[in-house]
Amino acid sequence: MLLGAIADDLTGATDLALTLTRGGMKVLQVVGVPPSGAQFADADAVVVSLKSRTIPASEAVAMSITAGKALLAAGARQLFFKYCSTFDSTDAGNIGPVTDALLALLGESRTLACPAFPTNKRTVYKGHLFVGDVLLSDSPMRDHPLTPMRDANLVRVLGRQTARAVVLVEHGCVRAGTEALRARLEAVEGIAIVDAISDADLRTIAAAASGFRLITGGSGVALGLPDVYAQAGLLRAATPANAMAAPQGRAAILAGSCSAATRRQIDLARSRGTPALQVEAAQIAQNQITVSEAADFVERNSDGLVPLVYSSADPEQVRAVQKTYGTTIAGEMIEKFMGQLAQTLAQRGFTRFLVAGGETSGAVIQSLGVTALQIGPEIDPGVPWTLSSGEGRSFALALKSGNFGADDFFLKAWDLLQ
Ligand code: ADP
Repeated sequence: MLLGAIADDLTGATDLALTLTRGGMKVLQVVGVPPSGAQFADADAVVVSLKSRTIPASEAVAMSITAGKALLAAGARQLFFKYCSTFDSTDAGNIGPVTDALLALLGESRTLACPAFPTNKRTVYKGHLFVGDVLLSDSPMRDHPLTPMRDANLVRVLGRQTARAVVLVEHGCVRAGTEALRARLEAVEGIAIVDAISDADLRTIAAAASGFRLITGGSGVALGLPDVYAQAGLLRAATPANAMAAPQGRAAILAGSCSAATRRQIDLARSRGTPALQVEAAQIAQNQITVSEAADFVERNSDGLVPLVYSSADPEQVRAVQKTYGTTIAGEMIEKFMGQLAQTLAQRGFTRFLVAGGETSGAVIQSLGVTALQIGPEIDPGVPWTLSSGEGRSFALALKSGNFGADDFFLKAWDLLQ
């Protein structure tokens, strides 16, 4: 194995697995911490998807270290810690603490942090993260239910999460080319926030960091890794991404993301006639809607259509709910509902699910008993269809990070399945 990756959420893991697959690597995505002694057949890269983005930092560290140890024991040459391209975290973590712990595990003193993903309009310039044309702190991420991002200066943001030095490696240094950047990176003691505004920058960074045992960032910075391995003669002949044989059966969309992109996707799908049921946190809390009632709605409306159940709400509504129930409880309550809904629908014969939201996808995967995912065709940048394996049947799953996908994502995704 060349690369052992640890992703802090499921949709991020899928996004990374897709990037590496497209680059010609044989990738296995496993769900949850792998058991010690796990072997990963002949995979070039193993992507472990955790659900560790918003749990207490100590738990995220423990999980990530166990996963890191399993990957190293299975022969990983390089570790990759994957987090969101919008650097989703709080002052308590978990990006800083997990990075610190993985460096300690490896006995290393330096790494880089680069969430840039230019294809999806996330760029880093002078250490500031932009979402499209605006700073992260002016983007809808400022109102994320769990990780509101109110500071776009990543040196500052990460500096609050780690005792290590956090330094900026500016765009000029990246533009100077691989060798100049390598020299700069190797002089860093601590964590380098590296500017990147284009895919070419990301490829330079991947090449310059070839000596790093740990790389951290979004899936973008992994873009150049397959080429780096190929040029070092470490990668076998490119294996094209497999076409996916999706199981036949009925389909549903479950949206637990409150991100702006997801809310636009819901609006468009509804305006084009998608049957939709909104579940509110208060209804769930007061038992005014049960999982089985929501499943009945989906079944009733699934004749030739793909129904949608969503909890997504605008920031004001989310704030009100969080005030009543507490942020964590509100989030967990809805995630549990969506997970149980997927399970109930699976029991009723549904085999195809599109899920919006990273945490929400994690909950769905858990209740469906999925343990591994194979990457299939890409719907929009960073979001492929996947074929699951695990305890039960196999499912076709599109697991969408909240902010990803074009407005017609919920409508067009199905065209890629036979
Ligand atoms: P994203 O990928 O957009 O971050 P996630 O699923 O990761 O989406 O996170 C959204 C979080 O918000 C989840 O914990 C979800 O349960 C919670 N949530 C969803 N709808 C609501 C709502 N109406 N009020 C409060 N929290 C909500």
